[in-house]
Formats: sequence, structure tokens, C-alpha cells
Amino acid sequence: MAKRLFSDALRMLWPLLFAIAVSYSISQWWPLVAVLAVLLGWQVWQKWRLARWLERGQLLAPPHGGGLWEDYYTRLMHLFRYEQRAQQELSQMLERIRNTADTLDEGIILLSPDLSLTYYNRAACDLLGLVAMDKGERLTNLVRHPELHAYIEEQNFEESLLIAATWKKMMLRIKVTSLAQEGLLLRVEDVSTVHKLESLRRDFVANVSHELKTPITVFKGSLELLLDQPLSQSPQYLQLLEHMQQQSERMESLVGNLLLLAKLEGQKAPIKETVSINALCEKLQTTFADKAQAKEQQLEWDIADALSLHGVPDEIESALSNLIDNAINYTPVKGLIKISCSKNLSELIFTVQDNGKGIDEMHLPHLTERFYRVERSRGRESGATGLGLAIVKHVMQRHKGRLTIHSQLGQGSRFSCIFPL
Ligand code: ADP
Repeated sequence: MAKRLFSDALRMLWPLLFAIAVSYSISQWWPLVAVLAVLLGWQVWQKWRLARWLERGQLLAPPHGGGLWEDYYTRLMHLFRYEQRAQQELSQMLERIRNTADTLDEGIILLSPDLSLTYYNRAACDLLGLVAMDKGERLTNLVRHPELHAYIEEQNFEESLLIAATWKKMMLRIKVTSLAQEGLLLRVEDVSTVHKLESLRRDFVANVSHELKTPITVFKGSLELLLDQPLSQSPQYLQLLEHMQQQSERMESLVGNLLLLAKLEGQKAPIKETVSINALCEKLQTTFADKAQAKEQQLEWDIADALSLHGVPDEIESALSNLIDNAINYTPVKGLIKISCSKNLSELIFTVQDNGKGIDEMHLPHLTERFYRVERSRGRESGATGLGLAIVKHVMQRHKGRLTIHSQLGQGSRFSCIFPL
């Protein structure tokens, strides 16, 4: 480029020098003015040709410029060709991505920040009944489903949304990812089969549990009768019968918990009412006093005044008592258990903290899974079912709240139920 510039400058210098010499020899300026005018005119002409070439479209062969202008034209041509190739590749790639997205069973939808449709694949059209012309329309105007509207408006996408699509007689699971400035990405999946199997499993567990309830009650009653018989005063019999009684109690609580879980999973939350947390805590104090005393544990209650919640009383009671029961079960003799409840502007926080043996970090993510127990073998003799925290989690979900667990091995654990107000 520098070489070209130098040779261009030299090319213009010769006529100039010649014009200066002629002007000097004849003592007149017009030869110099004429050469300057020609040089200037040539530059203007080249610029005009460049502008015309650009106007006509970059893909026509560039005009011959001569000197540096030739260089400009060639470089511009390369740039244009490069850009055109990049654009072609980009649109081919987009087309490929679109075609691939159309083969997916999962519906993919891109919404702009104002919730209008910017992209959706074929499965999204099938599942939500969208058509090509819907592009640019607001999704909430096209899919009239109150739960979907509320879910998108709340902007809390931690949990996916399960809706019954009445237009297709399907169960759809919708997962939303927020793309910040870019809007929202929705993934829609047909989960009708899984849902059907889930409800079959739920019904089966609920039915079996229900059927087992009566025989267990009869069995327990018979055992109590046997324990009162003189025959059972023999140490061998007594030990056997007490063991049977312990196991029948475990079976009873297992069946009760399974039934409760099936109810929590399957049914819609019954109509909520105002639940006095103070009254509930008083009841729990009485319920657990003996159990804690038997282990010489200290229960410390710190409940703020006038606390109430909008919820299902039985479910809330079951969640809170599970936490207290666990604290008593997993804290050694003479341990300290602090139970507190307070509220701030938006939440009511119920916390059970113990100074028991704590839980290893690796177990924390699994504690709310059914039948998960940290010490698998301990459950059988202690009567633990491994369903307590699963019940708490479901109750919290039904109350749009959350369960938080903090624990340190050897230090103790803190379980909190956080209810939105
Ligand atoms: P379980 O009937 O076994 O108590 P849960 O679902 O209530 O079932 O609890 C699951 C597991 O979490 C328990 O088996 C126990 O290992 C652990 N766990 C629960 N609460 C505590 C606690 N306060 N301290 C230590 N471990 C706990």
C-alpha cells in the first residue's frame, strides 16, 4: 500500500514539475493551473465512479481505477464478497437450525420481552395450536389459559408448569428460561403418558395403602390384647410381641404417610382458610412435650404474636410436626431444640433448629426424596419411614412456599418452612 502511494505521488509529481517549469519559462501561471485542474478533475471523476458503483450494487465488477483507486476497488470487492459469503453461510445455518428444530418433539418458542412470538417450531404449533400468521402476536392472547398467564406474569420460573391443554386433551409441561433482554425461551413437552402413568402409580399406592389400613388396625388391636394376656408375661413372648407392636406402628405410620403423600400429589389444594400459627404452635407444644421429655431434651419455643397464614390447616400442621418430630428423633438425649416463628413484610418463617449430629452435605439435596434416609439401617428400628420431608416439600409447594435446610455434621441442623404472605 505504501509503495502504491509513493508511486501514485510520483506519477502526479512529474506533470506538476513539468507545469511549474513551463509556467516559469513563459512567466505565466495557466499551464500549472491547467495541470492542477486535470489532476483534481481525475480524482473527482474516480470518486464519482466509486459512488456510482456502490449505488448500483456491490456485486458488479468494479471499474478500473488506476493507481491507488484500483487498490480501493479490489479491497472493497473482497470485503463485499466476504460479507456476502458470511451472510449466505449464516442464513444456511439458520435454515438448518430451523429444520432441525422442526424435527423435535418438544415445542420451542421464543418470546420477545413484550411476550410477542418471535420464533416457534412445528411442535409448538401442534401442541399450542399456533399458526404461521401468529408471529408477532402476544402468546397470552393466542393461548388462553389462566394458569399459563399467571405463571408468565409471576416471572418465577424455578419450577416448570404443568397444564391440561383442553384443546388437545393433553398434559403439557412448560419450562421457561429467561433470556434477560432477549425475552423468554419456552419449551413445551407433551407429558400425557408420563402423567397417566404417574396418576396410575399414585392411585395404586393410595388404594393399596387404604386397603392395608384396616388389617393393620386389627393386627395392632390384637397385639394389644395379646400383650395383656398372662401368657405374654414370659420374657420371650413379651419381647416378640413388643417387636411386633413396634413394627405394626411403623407400618401404620408408613401407610398413613403414603396416603397423605398421594393426597398431596394428586388433589388440588382444598379451599384455603386463615390458620392461626400461634394456636397451632400451642397444640404442637402439647403434642411433643412428652416425646422430648422422654429424651430429656429441651424444647425452646419463640413464637411471635398474632401470626396467621392463608392455607390448609391439616397440611401445615403435618409439615411443621414432621420437622419437630425429626429434630427430636435425630437429636441425642439432653439435646436442645429451638423452634421459632416470625414474619417480615412478605414471608412467614417457621424454623426448627437442633444441636443434633447434623447431616453430611452430600445428603442434603436428596433429603426430600421419598424413602431417602441418611442412615438406611436406623429407620427400621426407629420407625422412620423416609417420607416426612417429602411430605413437607409437597405441602410447601402447595402453599407456594419453600423448605430450606442447613446442616453441619456434628453441629446440628436447621430446617425452615418459608410461607409467602
Ligand atoms: P424419616 O422418616 O426417616 O425421618 P424424613 O423424610 O423425615 O424421613 O427424613 C429423611 C432423613 O433426613 C432422615 O432419615 C434423617 O436421616 C435425615 N434428617 C431429617 N431431619 C433431621 C435432623 N433434624 N437431624 C439430622 N438428620 C435429619
